[in-house]
Amino acid sequence: MPEVRYRPVDAMKAPRFTGIGSFMRLPQVTNMDGVDAAIVGIPFDTGVSYRVGGRFGPAAIREASRLLRPYHVEHEIEIFDHLSVVDAGDLAVVPGNVQASYAVMIEGLRPILEAGVVPLAIGGDHGITLGELRAVAKRHGRVGLIDFDSHTDTWDSYWGERYTHGTWCKRAIEEGLIDSRRAVQLGIRGSLYGSEDRGAARALGLHLIPTEELLRRGVDEVLAEVRQRVGTGPVFLTFDIDFVDPGFAPGTGTPEVGGPSSRDALRLVRGLRGIDLIGFDLVEVLPQYDHGEVTSLLAGTLLHEFLALIALRRRDLGEVLNAAPS
Ligand code: MN
Ligand code: MN
Repeated sequence: MPEVRYRPVDAMKAPRFTGIGSFMRLPQVTNMDGVDAAIVGIPFDTGVSYRVGGRFGPAAIREASRLLRPYHVEHEIEIFDHLSVVDAGDLAVVPGNVQASYAVMIEGLRPILEAGVVPLAIGGDHGITLGELRAVAKRHGRVGLIDFDSHTDTWDSYWGERYTHGTWCKRAIEEGLIDSRRAVQLGIRGSLYGSEDRGAARALGLHLIPTEELLRRGVDEVLAEVRQRVGTGPVFLTFDIDFVDPGFAPGTGTPEVGGPSSRDALRLVRGLRGIDLIGFDLVEVLPQYDHGEVTSLLAGTLLHEFLALIALRRRDLGEVLNAAPS
């Protein structure tokens, strides 16, 4: 048995409202020995085109995550019996300097990825995903992508700036970080700058499942298509909280009405069981536009779902819980 295992504080010994708030009250650890998955805050938010404030997302999501319990009912799994998880804290990004912040992300995620640990990043704006994918590529090469978002984020630039939360996906394809044949974007909706916007995304090779189509076809049929599209190789999952209807997730920067419910979102994520998900992020939560922690709690719950997916895959593959330190 491994000597080190990390799991949340037992809520039957110390009530959930006690203690300093890490994600799910996990141990705050930066040494990756004996770790399977790590929460990492990336509070960079100056790549946005509209509202700022995602820098406070990691703190708010951690606070809301106190409520989450370790047993996942629908999957019937004790997450932390199969997964040693830590909260590795926040990366020290440089506000207003996206390139310097990307360097911080690559450097900060490197020891996590090199140790074979699955990173679960909390944004921050969606521009951070490019930094994460650059780090991921050094370990996994070009990866597939499952992107929950009401926007394609494939615009070329904003005001001459090529690195923003609305351009990261185009840059990631141009840099060869994503295999667009193994990429799918779910939830696209809302008004556009022009009729060419969706065509530009498709021209990059992306497969779009707009919200209208998603809700018409239903969760199960869409999941089958996602599964077929991404196949068996490594896949990065990015979740922009504006995928969800602003009635369920008001605390975000560029909300689009008429979206899927939080329940739809949970069902879709649960259905990704078995896919080789090698990294995750949850972005675009702006606590100052939130009410009663609803957006932060949904974000925390989605991260809990991500952890359950990793735990299930480890259990199903019969992997050793912790590889012996080399
Ligand atoms: Mn986005
Ligand atoms: Mn979006």
